[in-house]
Amino acid sequence: MSKIQETVLEIDLLALKHNFKYLQSKLHRTTKMLAVVKAFGYGSDAAIIANYLEKLGLNYLAVAYTNEGVSLRKAGVSIPILVLHPQPVNFETLIEYRLEPSLYNKRVLTTFLSAAKKQQLYEYPIHIKFNTGLNRLGFLANEVDFVTKTLLEAPQVKVHSIFSHLAASEDCNEKEFTQQQITSFKKIAKAFQQKIKYPIMLHQLNTSGVVNYPEAQFDMVRCGIGLYGFANDPLETNKLKIVASLKSVISQIHYIEKGASVGYNKAFTATVPTITATIPIGHADGIHRAFGNGNGFVTINGKKAPIVGNVCMDMLMVDITGIDCGEGDEVVIFSNQETVNELAENINSISYEIVTAISQRVKRIVK
Ligand SMILES: *Cc1c(COP(=O)(O)O)cnc(C)c1O
Repeated sequence: MSKIQETVLEIDLLALKHNFKYLQSKLHRTTKMLAVVKAFGYGSDAAIIANYLEKLGLNYLAVAYTNEGVSLRKAGVSIPILVLHPQPVNFETLIEYRLEPSLYNKRVLTTFLSAAKKQQLYEYPIHIKFNTGLNRLGFLANEVDFVTKTLLEAPQVKVHSIFSHLAASEDCNEKEFTQQQITSFKKIAKAFQQKIKYPIMLHQLNTSGVVNYPEAQFDMVRCGIGLYGFANDPLETNKLKIVASLKSVISQIHYIEKGASVGYNKAFTATVPTITATIPIGHADGIHRAFGNGNGFVTINGKKAPIVGNVCMDMLMVDITGIDCGEGDEVVIFSNQETVNELAENINSISYEIVTAISQRVKRIVK
C-alpha cells in the first residue's frame, strides 16, 4: 500500500465483498439483495461501490434522489436503481435514465402516471411505498383500493415491488411495535396482490431488520449501513469490516509554551508546555465542529491524540505531547468501527451521520 500523503478516504472493496457475503449468508437462497448507496454510498463513493457490487451479482440498488441515480448511470451502472424519494420535478430525468421511482402518495403517483402517459411508456417499472408506522413516506393501508384501482387503469406502468420501512428495527425494546409493522405490511401486500394479479416483490427490512427479523425478509432486503461495516449491534458489527477509512497526515508541528493559545477564539490555552500537530482536515471535510476541545481525536502511530481548540474549516490541531511522530507522518481519523462509534457517541450522534458527513472535497482512493 502506498504511503498516505494527504487527506484521503480509503475504500476497501474486499471489506465490502465480505460484508455483502456475510449479509447474504443471513438470507434464504432466493431472497434478493438491494444495496442502498444513497448519500454517495454512505459517504464513501457510490459509483465505486455500485459498480463493484454489480460485478458481484447484486440484484438492485437504491438511492434517495434522482440526481444520485443519474450519477450512477453515468458511471456505467446498469442494474435496476430504485429512487426512494423522488420529486415530480425530476420525473422526466428519472425516466430518461431508466430509474425506478418509489411512489409514496396520491400526488406523486398521479403526477408520475401523467408523465408516463405523456411519454407513452409501457409497463415502466415502479415501486409503491406503504407507511406502516414510521410516518415518514408512504400510502396508508386504507389507500390500497385507490392505488390498485388507479394502477389497473394504467398500462404505462408495472409495479415491480411494494415496500415499507421499519422505524426501530435496531431496538430490541420495540419488538412489539416492529412486529406490528410487519403484520400490517403483510396485510397490505395480501390486499394489493388480490387486486393486481401479476407477481410483485415485497421488501421491508434494512440492515438491522436483516439481523433482528430475518423471518420478514420477503423477496428482497435493503441493506445500507451493514454493507459499509456497521450493524447497530456490537456482536454483528464485529462480523463486518469497515469499508471506508479516513486518513490524513501531519502538516506542521508546533511547540506551545505554557500560557499560549491554539486556534480560533483561543479556545485552547496550554497549562503545560504542549506539542501540537496541524492536520489538513476540517469541518468543511465533515469533521463536525462539535469534535473540538477534546470531543474528537485522531490516532498517530497507534496513540490517541485529542483535538485541541476549535475545529477550523480546513484543518484541526491535535495534542501530540508524548507521541513519537514527525511532520508528514500518517494520521488515522478512523479505520475501524469502534472508533467511528466512539466519535459518534462523543457528539451524541450515530455512525450513519459520521460516515455520511465526509465531504466530497476529500479524495477517495481504492485500497
Ligand atoms: C436508508 C434506507 C435503507 C437502508 O437502511 P440501513 O439501516 O442503512 O440498512 C433502507 N430502506 C430505506 C427506505 C432507506 O431510506
